[in-house]
Amino acid sequence: MNRIYNFSAGPGILPVPVLEEASQAVLEFNGSGMSILELSHRGKWYDPVHAEATALVLSTLGLTESEYTVAFMGGGASLQFALLPLNFLRPGQVADYVDAGEWGAKAIAEAQQVGTVHIAGSSKATKYDRLPELTPSRVGRYFHFTTNNTIEGTQVFDLPPSGGAPLVVDASSDIFGVDRDYSKFDLIYAGAQKNAGPAGVTMVVIRKSFLATASKGMSPMLSYLTQCEKQSLYNTPPVFPIYVVGLTLKWIAAEGGVKAVAARNAAKAKLIYDALDAAPSVYTPCVAVKAHRSWMNLTFRLATPELEKAFLAEAQAAGMDGLPGHRNVGGFRASIYNAFPVAGCQALADLLTDFAQRKG
Ligand SMILES: *Cc1c(COP(=O)(O)O)cnc(C)c1O
Repeated sequence: MNRIYNFSAGPGILPVPVLEEASQAVLEFNGSGMSILELSHRGKWYDPVHAEATALVLSTLGLTESEYTVAFMGGGASLQFALLPLNFLRPGQVADYVDAGEWGAKAIAEAQQVGTVHIAGSSKATKYDRLPELTPSRVGRYFHFTTNNTIEGTQVFDLPPSGGAPLVVDASSDIFGVDRDYSKFDLIYAGAQKNAGPAGVTMVVIRKSFLATASKGMSPMLSYLTQCEKQSLYNTPPVFPIYVVGLTLKWIAAEGGVKAVAARNAAKAKLIYDALDAAPSVYTPCVAVKAHRSWMNLTFRLATPELEKAFLAEAQAAGMDGLPGHRNVGGFRASIYNAFPVAGCQALADLLTDFAQRKG
């Protein structure tokens, strides 16, 4: 197997042992005589896969089954932008949202279709180059923010003041990658394809007492109450992505759990940020405030378009893929999710240093 350094922002890199086990299961699952792709979602082979993945999502986050419930859903994190207000926001009610990046802005637009949005803070005026100062409404039905702004490269490390409202997070790009007290959140959703598995499944973790306040009588496919009550088996769930999420969470446990993986992520990011900061005449990190810099998606620019072109060519020649920034932002973005190796971060740091010495 010839693995390059895959800096893709998502779908992103997965651990090799996970890929190996998943590819074996595509041929034959566990002595069943069938592929994982051929198994009934209501049968003795799949049942334990589903139950284990559910239990692992909670245990990896340090949450208990008595307090929280998990739904595995299709439609990406983007569907959750719509389902959250549909399930929790009633006409006349206010929900607080933080406007700190393009994904959060999309969530806001969906909530505005349903109810009133209080923008608790926005950094749009500075092109989302930092996290905004926050002023909660204090009457919010819930308080929504994005834990890691995948496109812009900022990350929230401290809990925001929610004004007493239940905390709801889009954790798509840093779930299982940073050590948080997840019991502070009432609802956590995350598409799997950044840190946890392939595209096709979104994990929605809901505190049971918060779920009990969701709207009733909704279309069952759109209802958190139905999805949770039916344990994501109201209709056919994304069997294979759920299976791979389970494998990835077992891999995280084998690596020492979220604490160990998060510590490694911080060290990985430091390698690259240190190289960028050492050559300020060549590199400009896109995030203006150091404390807001993401460990997951590291965004930076070079002094001129010519230098950017030359750097990209050298990175590609060195076996690094996926480095160009989001199409709306430009520059570079190094996405170094949980499975991304330390050696790849060192390789990028070395190239940054070497390039700056030659061109600076
Ligand atoms: C990728 C991403 C999304 C969108 O996910 P889809 O699965 O494509 O809908 C939403 N929020 C964040 C923070 C993301 O990184």
